[in-house]
Amino acid sequence: KANRLFHPEDSVFEVDGRKIGGSAFSVIAGPCSVESEEQVISVAKSVKASGASFLRGGAFKPRTSPYSFQGMGLDGLELLKLARKETGLPIVSEIMSTDVLDAFVEDVDIIQVGARSMQNFVLLKELGKCNKPVMIKRGLAATIEEWIMSAEYVMKEGNDRVILCERGIRTFETFTRNTLDLSAIPAVKKKSHLPVFVDPSHSTGMWWMVEPMAKAALAAGADGLMIEVHNSPEDALCDGAQSLKPEKFDQLMKVLKKYAQIE
Ligand code: PEP
Ligand code: MN
Repeated sequence: KANRLFHPEDSVFEVDGRKIGGSAFSVIAGPCSVESEEQVISVAKSVKASGASFLRGGAFKPRTSPYSFQGMGLDGLELLKLARKETGLPIVSEIMSTDVLDAFVEDVDIIQVGARSMQNFVLLKELGKCNKPVMIKRGLAATIEEWIMSAEYVMKEGNDRVILCERGIRTFETFTRNTLDLSAIPAVKKKSHLPVFVDPSHSTGMWWMVEPMAKAALAAGADGLMIEVHNSPEDALCDGAQSLKPEKFDQLMKVLKKYAQIE
């Protein structure tokens, strides 16, 4: 179902009245993690003012260390809902386990599957049975074929609204947090009709690399971006070093708007 052989045209679908894929370009922006009401409302208002299409925010965080901040959980989802009410921006958040599936289906507009969960097949099958768009991030060491197969798991169950998001892969290079595989954009587009987004934040790990990589992703044919923005990156509980300040995000959006029709 994800294969372009059986579906020659690009997939285009709507999420809360916003077009994804085709001529549309989407920008998902927001903090790595929901930390407090003030934080998420402040970031939501600024990214909305800059023209973002969706608000992101992690409530359940897949952290390398069990001693790191694990996210606010369902309280975080409540704050995201509040931010959606204040700004009108639909929300994107990561699900880590099926035990909170009902809450995600009810409250989240695009359900994100994180890189570390890309091959959680139990989770993918359940997401395939729900009527919410799913964004699948590429696994840290996943091939393009494996990544598309994860989309297939969701689509096989009847859910066609799937987005793939390149977020960098593990290579020998340690300067950057990951290595952004820009060639994945045309590669996925050759093999599949699904929209492809790029996350220049997790792929580089450094805020000053976000703008050039965002531009490169757009030039390479991506259908959207996911960008981390924080009102006070130095105080962020997670991923401050790669988070843009609202002013920097605003500058980036001004550049992107020259070349893309941001929905
Ligand atoms: C995220 O987007 O918050 C995240 C944890 O990303 P990834 O799964 O790509 O590491
Ligand atoms: Mn993050």
